[in-house]
Amino acid sequence: MAHKFSFYNTLSRTIEEFIPNEEGKVSMYTCGPTVYHFAHIGNIRTYIMQDALIKALEYCGYDVKRVMNITDVGHLSSDADTGEDKMLAGAKREHKTVMEIADFYTKAFFKDFDAVGNKRPEVIEPATNCIPEFIHMVEVLLEKGYAYVAGGNVYFDTSKLQDYYVFSSAIEKEQLAVGVRDDVEEDTAKKNKTDFVLWFTKSKFEDQALKWDSPWGVGYPGWHIECSCISMKHLGEYIDIHCGGVDNIFPHHTNEIAQSESYLGHRWCKYWFHSNHLNDRAGKMSKSKGAVLTVSVLQEKGYDPLVYRFFCLQSHYRKPLEFSFEVLDNTVTAYNNLVKKVEALIAADEKIKAAADQNKEDIAAVLEVIRNSQDIDENVKKEFEEKFADAISNDLNTSMAVTLLYDILKADTNAATKLAVVDSFDKVLSLDLIGHALADDSADIDPELEAFIKDAIERRAAAKKAKDFTTADAIRDELLAKGVEIKDTREGVKWSLV
Ligand code: AMP
Ligand code: ZN
Repeated sequence: MAHKFSFYNTLSRTIEEFIPNEEGKVSMYTCGPTVYHFAHIGNIRTYIMQDALIKALEYCGYDVKRVMNITDVGHLSSDADTGEDKMLAGAKREHKTVMEIADFYTKAFFKDFDAVGNKRPEVIEPATNCIPEFIHMVEVLLEKGYAYVAGGNVYFDTSKLQDYYVFSSAIEKEQLAVGVRDDVEEDTAKKNKTDFVLWFTKSKFEDQALKWDSPWGVGYPGWHIECSCISMKHLGEYIDIHCGGVDNIFPHHTNEIAQSESYLGHRWCKYWFHSNHLNDRAGKMSKSKGAVLTVSVLQEKGYDPLVYRFFCLQSHYRKPLEFSFEVLDNTVTAYNNLVKKVEALIAADEKIKAAADQNKEDIAAVLEVIRNSQDIDENVKKEFEEKFADAISNDLNTSMAVTLLYDILKADTNAATKLAVVDSFDKVLSLDLIGHALADDSADIDPELEAFIKDAIERRAAAKKAKDFTTADAIRDELLAKGVEIKDTREGVKWSLV
């Protein structure tokens, strides 16, 4: 039985208990990147929070299958089908072909996507792979009377729907309608302002590089159709969760629902998960605005990509998050302190320490020893794992999950238990603290210090035996002055670096 899981569903505008179509299984779709430029750290925030969602669901006992598209055609600079073709603009900017641009930025995207600890979706499909599927969906929409041909393009007729603005309250609907009415660039072929392009043949871009034959003439697909088709191709007619950033709600996801449900004749996706934006002090981050701050750029500046993940996990996905190097620097300190604590835990458990010394390069081998340690207090571990599952299943409360990480490190239990819990939490957090602790040479305890600690502990034990508590306390203070804290536990004296 999976753990109860709730999160905010944009469709119902409430936090809802998640009930998948098939017990224990989750079909999930994620809108992928438009590969005309680098993905900035804001885009990557969205993918980190989605990764946390997937891993949280898995932690709670669900089996997740996730599909993601790569937008390599059809996305105009305004999401409402106006402006320049983003891919074409990228190709012109860099004097390359559209396919070269797509290839280069897809690779760059996955480099950063992987670096922050994200798991790749089970299926990744570029839009240009699925042209026949798009054409088929457009044909069916025309047959069913939900689409029309005008001025050479095929449009979706939003007036055929009872409720087009599915995500919006009455007030928001009014505001959106005004926004759409005021849209600067008017397409006179549209019957209704909210209608959107399913297939372009009358391209305003004479030099549009990617064109395909279709029943309506040579052309290319509109942006929204790709997500509906790619999702149905791999996940079938019913999906559980669809993810994106808040900017995707309107018009992209609104249009995806319009065309998918008209095509299918039934409800399509039950839960819509939207994460909020990352802003810098100047406002919203944007790919089209000048220099792009990417995870790779952070890396070049010396930041570990997992520190950026840690930064993201400490705030709630539904809140806007402001980025600054000042806060990132504080996150570096916090992350390094966690690594040091984990190192001290490794050093404090004889068997785990021996495994770490033997297998410096082989993290998996050390993790095996941690997981199979006979010293783990299973009750404490279970208690923490339950608290953790409660946090992440409560509208993906990742900051509470991070707090629990600090709690276990402070808890009154042995090193093996702490390490086992840190390892367990990492299934979702993916901060790789144990891996970093093993890899960190600077963290290697100086053998001289280690010998000193051992000696001091022995001297203190002797002093205590002789009831010389003044000397015993002085030895403890001496150790503390060297950054070593000792504790008397049932299993004997334990020490850690502070
Ligand atoms: P794009 O490549 O522009 O289609 O965007 C990829 C993903 O990043 C989409 O899900 C967007 O909703 C999301 N996104 C765009 N801008 C931001 C931002 N500033 N912060 C967080 N996510 C964003
Ligand atoms: Zn999409």
